[in-house]
Amino acid sequence: MRIIEKVGEMQQQADSWRREGKRIAFVPTMGYLHAGHLALMDAAHRHGDLVVISIFVNPTQFGPGEDYQGYPRDLERDLRLADGVKVDAAFLPSVEEMYPVGFQTFVETTNVTRNLCGRNRPKHFRGVTTVVMMLFQIVKPHVAIFGEKDFQQLVTIRRMVQDLHVAVDVVGHPIVREADGLAMSSRNVYLNEEQRQSALRLSQSLELAQSLTHGGERHAGTIIATVCSHIEGAPETQIDYVQVCHPETLEDVATIEGPALLAMAVRVGKARLIDNCVLQPPT
Ligand code: AMP
Repeated sequence: MRIIEKVGEMQQQADSWRREGKRIAFVPTMGYLHAGHLALMDAAHRHGDLVVISIFVNPTQFGPGEDYQGYPRDLERDLRLADGVKVDAAFLPSVEEMYPVGFQTFVETTNVTRNLCGRNRPKHFRGVTTVVMMLFQIVKPHVAIFGEKDFQQLVTIRRMVQDLHVAVDVVGHPIVREADGLAMSSRNVYLNEEQRQSALRLSQSLELAQSLTHGGERHAGTIIATVCSHIEGAPETQIDYVQVCHPETLEDVATIEGPALLAMAVRVGKARLIDNCVLQPPT
């Protein structure tokens, strides 16, 4: 696996692969890799001839008081894991390499970033779209894989790519879960034993909502209330939001008439966890 730290070197490598006619598949990450990330890398092999990952904890997507400084990092382990799934190159830039002195240009996708996580993390998606656009200019991928765990991020990047005519195919990958249902996340490391038990309420509540919907419940308010009370019944949980939205516009829906996104963010101890599923009403 090639390790690349400099923007220019990554661009030259990408250009040379492109000249050889190779299709570059890209998986951007913030590191502290888990089986969810590795599943995206496996999927990347099916979409391209070469797989490039990036590991970069992007400061511009963290707000004041969020966990940028304390975000878990273990580069040595990450590189071992990535090598194990046959990644061809890992791009590991420093903050100074990505944001040189004088940096002042941002990419902003407006409407789809206003709801859900955007309500309490106002600059978050601006940081995400900016760094993803930069990474696309550096890695020059033909295709990029993003997890549906960050559903709003996936919708936002699809929108950005469409709006700015970016020649990258965006592929979504289903959420990868632990055996007990907990969505895999680098932030799960923040949970102690008891908090981890409480965290199971997120995926359990998604299943509750699925079965309500299958049973014919169409009122989003009823589903949200059931989900909230299931989550709030566990210790150390604090709901940031539980919402039912249109899966493309991400605007709230009151009545479920087609596929609808049920999305949530919940603090469990110091971890802010997100999870979601698409509710399918019976036809
Ligand atoms: P992160 O390192 O958290 O920025 O995530 C990097 C990529 O992995 C993003 O596209 C995430 O959506 C994706 N990802 C993280 N956790 C999971 C998971 N449990 N299942 C599927 N994709 C995931």
